Amino acid sequence: MRFSQAFIPTTKEAPSEAVLASHILLTRAGFTSQVAAGLYNYLPLGKRVLKKIENVINEEMTKIGAQEVDLSFVTPAHLWEESGRMEKFGKELLRFRDRKENLFVLGPTHEEMMVNLVRNRVTSYKQLPLNLYQVKTKFRDEARPRFGLMRGREFVMKDGYSFHATTEDLDREFDAMEAAYKRIIERLGLDFRVVKADSGAIGGAGSKELMVIADSGEDTIAICDNCEYGANVEAAERSIRQDIPEAPESDFNKFQTPDVKSIEDLANFFKVDPYYTMKCVAKRMTYEDGDQIVLFFLRGDDELQEVKAVNAAEALDIADVSEEELAALGLVPGFMGPLDMEKLPCVFDTGLKGATQLICGANEKDFHYVGVDMSVLDAGLFADLYTVKEGDGCPHCSGGNLLYTKGIEVGHIFKLGTAYSKPLKAEFLNERGQAEPFIMGTYGMGVSRLIAATIEQHHDEKGCIWTKETAPYMVNVMVSNIKDEEQLAFGEALYQQLQDAGVEVILDDRKERFGFKMKDAELIGFPYTVIVGKELVNGNVQIVERATLEKRAVFADKVFAEIMERL
Ligand code: ATP
Ligand code: MG
Repeated sequence: MRFSQAFIPTTKEAPSEAVLASHILLTRAGFTSQVAAGLYNYLPLGKRVLKKIENVINEEMTKIGAQEVDLSFVTPAHLWEESGRMEKFGKELLRFRDRKENLFVLGPTHEEMMVNLVRNRVTSYKQLPLNLYQVKTKFRDEARPRFGLMRGREFVMKDGYSFHATTEDLDREFDAMEAAYKRIIERLGLDFRVVKADSGAIGGAGSKELMVIADSGEDTIAICDNCEYGANVEAAERSIRQDIPEAPESDFNKFQTPDVKSIEDLANFFKVDPYYTMKCVAKRMTYEDGDQIVLFFLRGDDELQEVKAVNAAEALDIADVSEEELAALGLVPGFMGPLDMEKLPCVFDTGLKGATQLICGANEKDFHYVGVDMSVLDAGLFADLYTVKEGDGCPHCSGGNLLYTKGIEVGHIFKLGTAYSKPLKAEFLNERGQAEPFIMGTYGMGVSRLIAATIEQHHDEKGCIWTKETAPYMVNVMVSNIKDEEQLAFGEALYQQLQDAGVEVILDDRKERFGFKMKDAELIGFPYTVIVGKELVNGNVQIVERATLEKRAVFADKVFAEIMERL
């Protein structure tokens, strides 16, 4: 490509609402342009990066025997009604009617469509396993589309679905997909971690996310400082605490505690470790048939993890409840406890199982109970509700401690089991001739998000720094002064030579100042720029490596070989 003919509208201005480096740089360097909230155009450079990532994905998918398909973007709403996801997806689903009044949905993910494709076409265990995928535009009417390609409303996803006769076979495929996903992200040159993820309400036997490590990531992940363990904080666990603080000694009693509302005040008041206090968190949980306030109880030194709370309460969503709302129900915020709590359903954190010597609210203003023993409560529902803390023990190895880091979710692999095949009645005949629902896996990867993630991890104040498998062009041959015939001729020849060798190369033959061209090269982030300038008369050119900005003079007649070696 000749820069003089390329459509690469670089600018100095950043989009006013942009906060992320990737959003700012991809716009300024002319990779993408915003159309409306969460909608982006890919300009030639952006499209090239997208295709390169797609190619890596296609190669790795082919290696493990997955087959590419391309399903309709517009999907019939009745499939979503069949699976029961019409409600669950809520407002993220963009719905519309055609001229005949048929209801449709723009596909946000394609489980229903894929099951519909396979059902009645694959009928025997002999045709299994099957792994189908596509790289396709998705639409989710996200509540807060922001951060550029990181969270679009329209975005490109690689979504794959596998069909199996047995859970063992699904396990095998899941491991193969995990390995393939790791190879993809490694090839893209990104630092990442595979973490245990929340499996959500549909549960399923396993779910893992691929997280690109970046400070700007929206996900908090807990990783072990000693082993491979990593988990999204939504799903992270810890080992049983060893250094249990000394317990207070008290008989069961009701105590006056004027104005002692917070855990901190309570612990100070009784001079106990917060471990022995009981925290009550009220949340409004959403269900298909309405809302319900649920009380969650944890040890005072733990925080509620909302995703765990949603799973424990088998709810669709979670929201805060104000003190006024609680008071209106006849509850006493700051003094709520599980004893004689008949008004609302209660869920207890597993950390409270068998606990003794607890202090909790007495459901009466300015009173707490002390010496509470969990066994006196007929506490029904126990579940993991806690948020892991930095320094907690690793649940996987002995001696390791958990640390927090930030990640960008670029992939999600999930064992679905029969969660979709059952409601959609997608069945095959097993070896004994009996009909069974397919056992399925689903595998998503955010292709457009990967572009943003690459830049979040690889940029500096001057611009983008592309990796080998993501760069729009590997080499930029920059003719410093195109009026200099010798420089131009050399640049042209090198450009041709590199092109003939199959290198992705661009020739900066623009009639612009050297400084201007250099700024563009740094902003766009080509891995190598060859500067053909004044020194050519002495037989020298320069190679600038974008990642380090290191500049090195090389003999003009050696530059081709030098570049080929570096690639
Ligand atoms: P998130 O938690 O970030 O909203 P998700 O869990 O809803 O994502 P999945 O349904 O698992 O996403 O989709 C698979 C992959 O698609 C994600 O791992 C992510 O990389 C990508 N993805 C999801 N939503 C978006 C979006 N709005 N913009 C860009 N990529 C997205
Ligand atoms: Mg996900």
